[in-house]
Amino acid sequence: MEYVTLNNGIKMPKLGYGVYQTAPEDTKRCVLDAIETGYRSIDTAQAYQNESGVGDALAECGLPREEFFLTTKVWITNAGYEKAKASIEESLKKLRTDYLDLLLIHQPFGDYYGTYRAMEEFYKAGKIRAIGVSNFGPDRYLDLEHFSEIKPAVNQVETHVFQQQKTAREYMQKYGCQIESWGPFAEGKNGLFTNPVLTEIGKKYEKTAAQTALRFLLQSDVVVIPKSVHKERMKQNIDVFDFTQKDMSIMFAEEKKGEKYLCCMKKSILETVDTEQGIQF
Ligand code: NAP
Repeated sequence: MEYVTLNNGIKMPKLGYGVYQTAPEDTKRCVLDAIETGYRSIDTAQAYQNESGVGDALAECGLPREEFFLTTKVWITNAGYEKAKASIEESLKKLRTDYLDLLLIHQPFGDYYGTYRAMEEFYKAGKIRAIGVSNFGPDRYLDLEHFSEIKPAVNQVETHVFQQQKTAREYMQKYGCQIESWGPFAEGKNGLFTNPVLTEIGKKYEKTAAQTALRFLLQSDVVVIPKSVHKERMKQNIDVFDFTQKDMSIMFAEEKKGEKYLCCMKKSILETVDTEQGIQF
């Protein structure tokens, strides 16, 4: 595995395993399969309602906790200092661990400054090794960066071949924040797995379009956490460190074809928040 070094010196695997939309009852099996396949970084969230499955897998896999890089996220209904603190304790309990490697604010809504202060406390107490944010656009990221004591180590944002986050990354790079991709396959939308450009490039290296998409991000210094409930795909998705893609400029150019898709994704984030309880999943 290759690693990035975060702004506080902590090492984070460049590739991990995501469990968004993995059913709670399947999560333990999926994470155990991922661990057997070689994944050591796992990304979950309070909102995924499967932290317990992740915790059970980590407790039962037979490997020491220190071998793993474990990430979870505070959901918007737990925003604010007191609620966030209680929710972090709850996450630790469900994950069956006494520390997290990375904790993120899931989305920048509600009193996320209060949430961040709670996270800073856990960080200072040694219960979280790194703290950061997710879905923070450049304006909100810069605001928090300037007015927080512990600078966000990671910003996990939608990043893939059709949404390369070029502007956001300029700001993150300037202030030493690691970009992490969610949806490295665009969640399968926009025909990514059969995209002719990705497929053609992949053929040169005997790789699939999925592997080409991941390799593109890795070579762009983006941390990735692909999700699959299928072991064969888990194997495929981690098998991306034995080749160097030469056609990066063609890949950079693919972004323009995703414009229509982008509009629809932005709308879906707003719809997620604009519900009675502010929660949809
Ligand atoms: P993704 O990884 O881009 O795509 C997952 C989809 O691709 C699933 O439908 C999966 O199907 C399919 N797939 C995976 N590998 C494949 C392969 N090799 N060939 C063909 N199909 C393949 O989407 P994601 O799960 O949304 O994103 C990854 C992780 O990012 C999440 O699990 C989560 O941890 C995180 N995330 C964070 C946020 C946030 O707001 N911070 C939002 C979304 C996601 P199967 O499972 O059926 O194989």
